[in-house]
Amino acid sequence: MRIDILTLFPEMCEAVLSESIIGRSRQAGLVEINCRQIRDYTLDKHKRVDDTPYGGGMGMIMQVQPIYDCYMSLCEEVGKKPHLIYMSPQGKTLTQNRVRELAQMENIAILCGHYEGIDERVIEEIVDEEISIGDYVLTGGELPALVLADSISRMLPGVLPNEEAFSDESHYSSLLEHPQYTRPYEWHGQTVPDILLSGHHANINKWKRQQSLMRTYLRRPDMLSKAKLDKKDIEFLRELKAQQKALDRQGTENADS
Ligand code: SAM
Repeated sequence: MRIDILTLFPEMCEAVLSESIIGRSRQAGLVEINCRQIRDYTLDKHKRVDDTPYGGGMGMIMQVQPIYDCYMSLCEEVGKKPHLIYMSPQGKTLTQNRVRELAQMENIAILCGHYEGIDERVIEEIVDEEISIGDYVLTGGELPALVLADSISRMLPGVLPNEEAFSDESHYSSLLEHPQYTRPYEWHGQTVPDILLSGHHANINKWKRQQSLMRTYLRRPDMLSKAKLDKKDIEFLRELKAQQKALDRQGTENADS
């Protein structure tokens, strides 16, 4: 898969993309990620890429020409139009599901805005999709683009040791992952749950599943409606809810007395 990031700050992206798992995967050719400097495409003799907003207002707006020419040169290089995503706080919030779908594509380009944003006309003309990484505003699209590139790359074959490395993780199946532990066995008086040392794989898997269900129920109950649950899961959740109700009742009685 090839991902191209269109940005005014390619060094910022490169610094992150050269490290750790993604850096090694790029070197191994498991994913190709390139950063394209939008400023290289400006026709302005002073290399400007932004101007003041029509109608007044704060800050600067990135102009259409450098962005359009940057994307067109990419299309020419790739030989087709890569699916262009504009990172924007106005886009659809990124989910693991969308990440999984995007990881099936051959070519993706990610456009990073900066300053007050981008002239709307170029968004309308070339952007296929707008993605937000959450309901807050950052100074630029570089961090969101890195979030997107990282989350997609780790889904690609060979980047992680096997599919289990991500399929067990939070959000993949609309559940949060169970808690995890490593050595030492005891730390600050707290020990690792003994079941994990039992060597009994069926019981360990059952414990992991129930912990995962419990965490999701307590922290993100909204996710459970999308999770694939079997009869045992439903029964476990029913018991959990009953216990929770009993605890709540007890709490109210104690407060009243
Ligand atoms: N004026 C814009 C608005 O109110 O919608 C915000 C512009 S923001 C300061 C500059 C750039 O950062 C945006 O063009 C976008 O590329 C990026 N950005 C900021 N917050 C983001 C978010 N939550 N998700 C994705 N991109 C974001």
